Amino acid sequence: MALPVAHTAVALGLTRSRDPLAWVFLGFLSILPDFDFILVWGLGLPIDIYHRTFSHSLFFCVAMALLWMVIRPARLKAISPLLVAMVLLSHSFLDMLCTADVLDHGVVFFWPLSDYTMGWPTLVPLYLFFGSSPFSFSGAIRFTFLEMLLAGPLWLSARSLRIGLLWCARLFRSAEIAPASQQE
Ligand SMILES: [Zn+2]
Repeated sequence: MALPVAHTAVALGLTRSRDPLAWVFLGFLSILPDFDFILVWGLGLPIDIYHRTFSHSLFFCVAMALLWMVIRPARLKAISPLLVAMVLLSHSFLDMLCTADVLDHGVVFFWPLSDYTMGWPTLVPLYLFFGSSPFSFSGAIRFTFLEMLLAGPLWLSARSLRIGLLWCARLFRSAEIAPASQQE
């Protein structure tokens, strides 16, 4: 499983903001889906029903983006609802890349429409090289150290994705404007 350092690195790569408060908020947002552990560890609810289900779903990303449209404070105007959705989506996708056993703890991305679990063990060998589990003090330290090494490449990948998407959006917009101006 990915820990906060990796999720935060991706979230910070998705923004152009230089506001430290926005960075803190995005760091929090990037790990918000894992607060489902409160239900599992705090309330003792079954992990297979409450972890990596609703809080890691497309539905949750869209719902949070819509909520952000309503409650966004002026101080965090730099954080758009689209960015909120992208940061939450990035959490789910990063978790999918760190899924060793898709049947046991894959991401239920299409909750509540489907209980199909998704995940690919792309980054798993890397994590296994540093330890078998983050659920111990030494395991958490080792995995966090690995994620500090991964933070740069993850940040750069997210930044490249943001620049690529912006470039596509501009291309699409100019293609829409061009025929209209040609008619004049
Ligand atoms: Zn997660």
